[in-house]
Amino acid sequence: MVISDISNLPPTAHKDEVTETRSTTPGAPVQQEGSSYATPLRKDAFELSDGEKMKTIEGHFKEIMKTLGLDMTDDSLKGTPGRVAKMFVKEIFGGLNPASYPKISLFENKFQYRRMLVERNIPLYSFCEHHFLPIYGKAHVAYIPNGKVIGLSKLNRIVDHFARRPQVQERLTMQIADELRRVLGVEDVAVYIDAQHMCVQARGVHHDHASTTTAEYGGKFLNEYTRNEFLQAIKAQ
Ligand SMILES: [Zn+2]
Repeated sequence: MVISDISNLPPTAHKDEVTETRSTTPGAPVQQEGSSYATPLRKDAFELSDGEKMKTIEGHFKEIMKTLGLDMTDDSLKGTPGRVAKMFVKEIFGGLNPASYPKISLFENKFQYRRMLVERNIPLYSFCEHHFLPIYGKAHVAYIPNGKVIGLSKLNRIVDHFARRPQVQERLTMQIADELRRVLGVEDVAVYIDAQHMCVQARGVHHDHASTTTAEYGGKFLNEYTRNEFLQAIKAQ
């Protein structure tokens, strides 16, 4: 039985522009405003429609390609600015818009399950905000349920939502952890990300095999025994 939909939960402290956006987008998360890990968005971030944004980006991207000397009448190139604009707004940066936040349903924990639940190997695709190049890898998340449990795929969708923004891995990790705390109503959450950054591999230092790990632990996961159980679980084959 679904006992609560996140859209019915009272929002925690937040203010101004995003509040108004949320009122028309039930289920949209608090944007972690005022926290050091909020995505730096302007207050007018959603005044333009998606269509208006795509048109503007298409024009600018065409200029970039022209500036690089590309022949924009070539039939292989001429559709690229429009494709890039649509991909930016609707896909890879779609998570900037609270309207794209997934619908989250929670269920009563009638099983009295009190141990950790680990969702491993969640595919992660994001983009570094310093170079706009891909960050790709795996996210592992866990929580210890109290009164409610969450549909498993929703854990993947929360990761995906915050990944679909220009990001740095540290902020992505914190945003996912904070959202899990908010949605699940527990402090006992863990997030571990192991990812590769194309801006490190394909340019700059060209370090092919470097990967970056980040983690955030809350509540019982600050206890070494519990944290080790989580780390063992994500390493097990
Ligand atoms: Zn980068």
